[in-house]
Amino acid sequence: MKRANVQRKTAVRCGDCQSIFTAEIGDDGAVFLIGMGDRCGCGGTEFRSFA
Ligand SMILES: [Zn+2]
Repeated sequence: MKRANVQRKTAVRCGDCQSIFTAEIGDDGAVFLIGMGDRCGCGGTEFRSFA
């Protein structure tokens, strides 16, 4: 059985502007910002998660 929709909510920080967002991390490690998708408002697409 496939478990495609397992996501974890976490906090991430944009690598460019240092803004902090709530995000979901998919099984494959993809980051999706809640309400924003895969891209920060500054255009950054690299995020660092922290617990
Ligand atoms: Zn940013």
